[in-house]
Amino acid sequence: GIAAPVAVALDGADLPREAGLSAVPGRPQAVFTHDGQITRPPVRAITLAALAPRRGQLLWDVGGGSGSISVEWALAGGRAICIEPRPDRQLNIAANITAFGLEHRVELCPGAAPEALKDLPVPDAVFLGGGADQAMFAALWPLLPQGSRLVANAVTLETEALLAQLQARHGGQLMRIAIAEAEPLGRMRGWQAARPVVQWSVTR
Ligand code: SAH
Repeated sequence: GIAAPVAVALDGADLPREAGLSAVPGRPQAVFTHDGQITRPPVRAITLAALAPRRGQLLWDVGGGSGSISVEWALAGGRAICIEPRPDRQLNIAANITAFGLEHRVELCPGAAPEALKDLPVPDAVFLGGGADQAMFAALWPLLPQGSRLVANAVTLETEALLAQLQARHGGQLMRIAIAEAEPLGRMRGWQAARPVVQWSVTR
């Protein structure tokens, strides 16, 4: 026959269906401590899919913000180093590491890339979510081992132009993520478009 759901099999409790944490990335913003500077859930889900976490692998999360990318990478079985220069955001990252019980998997690295990256253990994947420019990329790229994955998200025209150039030179996939959600519009509803995100994914 069909096995009972795990939650019921383990403790016999009648848990509400919405109890606990979703098993997949793109978890709601409300489960994280943040200041508004956080990758939106659908974009975060796409980003984690592109980062393709494997058990035990190490992520550099450059521009940690709230640490939501590091948290979702770690919940998928990986380890992460979350690099963030702003003290107020470092507090949010620390709060999220603790709230998710990920002290053993996620490490906060206070400071700015690329300087802060120099003495870190070699990563399997890198997410560039903040501070991406020509100089940052030039310093970062040589640090990455062959076969590692880099995913960079851009919301500005300047960073988007950089990612387009980088794809021409290094290959990989360039994707434009343009999401709209239905919202009230007077007594009707209309599509509210989010800022498009351009994402470059490449294997070194
Ligand atoms: N992915 C994050 C949001 C990133 S916002 C989340 O989901 O929460 C971009 C972050 O990059 C900001 O917090 C900013 O302080 C940080 N940042 C900007 N320049 C940086 C640099 N040179 N090195 C590291 N982080 C940087």
